[in-house]
Amino acid sequence: MNFHLSPIGVKSADAVANFWIKQLAIHICGDAGGAATLFPVTVLEAIQKSADFLGKKGVESSRLNAELLLAHLLKMPRMKLYLNFERTLTAAETDSLRELVKRRGQREPLQHIIGSTNFCGCEILVNRHALVPRPETELLAELGWNFLVTRHLSLVTALDFGTGTGCIAIALAVKCPAAKISALDFSADALALAKQNAAVNKVAERIEFFQGDGFAAIQSEGRVPRVPNQNAGDSCHSSLRKFEFDLIISNPPYIASAEIETLQPEVRDFDPRAALDGGADGLDFYRRLAAEAKAFLKPDGKIMLEFGDGQADAIKKICESEKWIVESVQEDYSHRARILVARR
Ligand code: GLN
Repeated sequence: MNFHLSPIGVKSADAVANFWIKQLAIHICGDAGGAATLFPVTVLEAIQKSADFLGKKGVESSRLNAELLLAHLLKMPRMKLYLNFERTLTAAETDSLRELVKRRGQREPLQHIIGSTNFCGCEILVNRHALVPRPETELLAELGWNFLVTRHLSLVTALDFGTGTGCIAIALAVKCPAAKISALDFSADALALAKQNAAVNKVAERIEFFQGDGFAAIQSEGRVPRVPNQNAGDSCHSSLRKFEFDLIISNPPYIASAEIETLQPEVRDFDPRAALDGGADGLDFYRRLAAEAKAFLKPDGKIMLEFGDGQADAIKKICESEKWIVESVQEDYSHRARILVARR
C-alpha cells in the first residue's frame, strides 16, 4: 500500500487518515463490504456511542433515544436490547444506525424517524404534515371517551376539531364503539395521514373526514348547525339533530406566533407551523371555538379543549364571555392546567 497517495476526492488530512483506518479495519475484519465501518461494534457499544453523540447535539434523554433507534433498526422491543448487549452489529446495521443517529442529531423528532408513535394504545403514523401526538393529549382523549361512554345512546357523535394525525378521533372511535366521529382539518395532507391512521386502527368506517377552515367545512358538506329557538324548544329540531355532536373536542394550535422561534428544534422545525400557530396571543382558535361551537353541540353536550401552559385563565374568560358554563379545568401529569371542559 502506498500511504502517500491521496485517494481521489478525499482532501483533508483527517479524511486521508480515516480512509486508511477503514482499509485497515476491512483488512482486520476480512469484510470487504463494510467499507464505511471501522470495527464491528456490539449493541452496548453502539448504544453508548450513539448516546454520546446525541447528548452532544443537545438531544434530551439521549441514551433512551439511542436505544429506541437501535431497537427500531433491529426490529426488537427496546428491552430485548439488554439481552443482546454482546451481539455484534453487522456492517450494514452499523451504517443504518449511523444514518438514523445522524438524523436525530439534526433534531429530527424520534417519531418522524421511526415513522409512528403510540397514542392511547393506538399506532399512529406520523409525518411532517401533522403534529406529533403528545402524551398530554392522551388525557384529553381519555376524558372524551369517558364522557361518550356515559351517554348510553345507540349512536353518540363527536367532532375532533383540527384532527392532525387523527389521533384523538381514532382513540375515541376505538374506545367507544357506539361513536361516530367527525374529524376536521384545514390541511389536506394531514387528513390523508389521518385517514391512513383510521384504516390502520380499523375505525375508518366510523370516522368521517372534513377538509376546510373550521365549522364552515361541515356546513359546506350540507351540514347545518342547530338553530337555537327558545320558544319552540329543542324537540322541534330533531331533523337537525344528526348535525349536532355530543362532544366537540380539540387540541388546537395554541402557540403565540412570536414564540414559535423559541421552541425546541424538534417542534419548531418539524411540526407543521399551522399546527402550532395560534395567532398573536395564541388564543385565536379558542375565540373561534367559543363563538361558533355551541350551534353544533347537543343541549347536554360538552366541549373539551386542550391548551398551553399558563393559558387557563384566559381561555376560561373567553368561554365565559361566550356564555359557556365552565365545568372543570384539568391538570396534566406535571400538574399544569391543560384541559377545559364546558357545556352550553
Ligand atoms: N388534534 C391533533 C393532536 O392532538 C392536532 C393538534 C394540532 O395540530 N394542534 O395531535
